[in-house]
Amino acid sequence: MSVLEQLLEYQKKDGALRKIEQELASSEERKKLVQARSFMKNAETRIAAQDARAVELKNLRDQLVLRVEEIGHGLAEYSDLDEMVDGGGDVSFYKKNALQLQERLRAIKAELSKILAEIESLSAEYKKLMEQGKAANKQAKEYGDRYKAVQSARAPEINALNAELAKIAEGIPKETMEKYKQKRSENVFPVIVPLTGGMCVCGMDLSLAQQKKLEGGDVIECEHCRRFIYKA
Ligand SMILES: [Zn+2]
Repeated sequence: MSVLEQLLEYQKKDGALRKIEQELASSEERKKLVQARSFMKNAETRIAAQDARAVELKNLRDQLVLRVEEIGHGLAEYSDLDEMVDGGGDVSFYKKNALQLQERLRAIKAELSKILAEIESLSAEYKKLMEQGKAANKQAKEYGDRYKAVQSARAPEINALNAELAKIAEGIPKETMEKYKQKRSENVFPVIVPLTGGMCVCGMDLSLAQQKKLEGGDVIECEHCRRFIYKA
């Protein structure tokens, strides 16, 4: 068998292998596995973002609680206003200060209650997200097992084809085989195509000189799609 014939034989078997690969890739089991994995990943990202926000909120809460305490102490100093006035202090000045402190306290307490509400809603969301993540994790494992079973079912066919391919490849120059495999990995298929109406399958015209080269059973590479072209 000529190299060209062997290449064509190789490609025929490789086409059968490719079909199995495509069937596996487009199987329901794999689609669901991919979906569950992407959901899991998404949940993980969101959980990490919530963790960071929770730390921020707790820090804010602690700061505000400290300020509430500080202002509380400040206000306590005005509890004996009568004595302070008796001691010669300016009542209107003290009252103004006390009112200002009370105003600040109100504002800080309002801020604090907003933060506490956000912490609460965040922790509810967090709980939900953790549950969803757990469910997705379980599902990913389940679909992973199912997909493995589908793969195992096709393994004998795949192994047999690979063995046949390896045998045919023995009669093909290594360099040619490498080029073939490179194209195959780039999802170019078929890799070897017959010259049709002076053109490659991609529509690229071949010069007469190039066409002449094919006469003797040679194979040339298409300048456009890089497939191997032969003359049938
Ligand atoms: Zn081409």
